[in-house]
Amino acid sequence: MSAERREELAQRLASLRERIAAACAAAGRDPASVELLAVTKTVPAEDVAMLLDLGLTAFAENRVQEAGAKVDAVAALRPEARPRWHFVGGVQRNKAKAVARWADRVESVDSARLADALDAAVRRDLETGGRIERLPVLVQYSVDGDPRRGGVPRNEVSSLAEHVVSCAGLQLAGLMAVAPLGADPDVAFADVAAAAARLRAEFPQATVLSAGMSGDLEAAIRHGSGVVRVGTALVGDRPLASR
Ligand SMILES: *Cc1c(COP(=O)(O)O)cnc(C)c1O
Repeated sequence: MSAERREELAQRLASLRERIAAACAAAGRDPASVELLAVTKTVPAEDVAMLLDLGLTAFAENRVQEAGAKVDAVAALRPEARPRWHFVGGVQRNKAKAVARWADRVESVDSARLADALDAAVRRDLETGGRIERLPVLVQYSVDGDPRRGGVPRNEVSSLAEHVVSCAGLQLAGLMAVAPLGADPDVAFADVAAAAARLRAEFPQATVLSAGMSGDLEAAIRHGSGVVRVGTALVGDRPLASR
């Protein structure tokens, strides 16, 4: 069973790497300029351990409770490995402390209140000998301004970035976006790329662009994404209820 799963993950990873390489070739980009972030929400820690064995090092989760337990379980399974964990989901302010305990980057910052809660958690941790001086964060941008999927609309990116920069416990690292459902990904990611360029013009340290998932990573790579967040194509279908 476990050997079969390992083989399945190895094959999926190989085809995914081919897709990314082909997309980079078509866009005239170096494949090393695109990082693969494995989205492991709903998959067990054993799968993450296998993905570590297969050479992946960066993982993303979107639920606070599930993520915290999985980070610990993976550390127990592979004590020598040093995975990086990114958070890409919604966080209630009272859960910011739990995320700050293990996150190496939070990609879903979409309010000053959340930035403040993460900032306070990082600085409180640091007083007691904590892990990280400044938590890297991405501002989540909403292409269509629909608040249900998270992200801030175009006219709020700059003020939120300014706020993040004012937080001593945070480091503004860039922009993250999800293409709206049903949208033409080329149109969506052209818009995202323009938002990322405006942010970088104002804040040169905001170099990261995290865009593209299983269904639309080619378009995201065409429009300059440096991080693709891939779940389904790598680990298989999630149960419907947990998408
Ligand atoms: C689930 C998720 C992904 C991965 O989506 P897939 O379509 O499974 O590749 C990427 N980004 C975010 C924010 C997610 O929640």
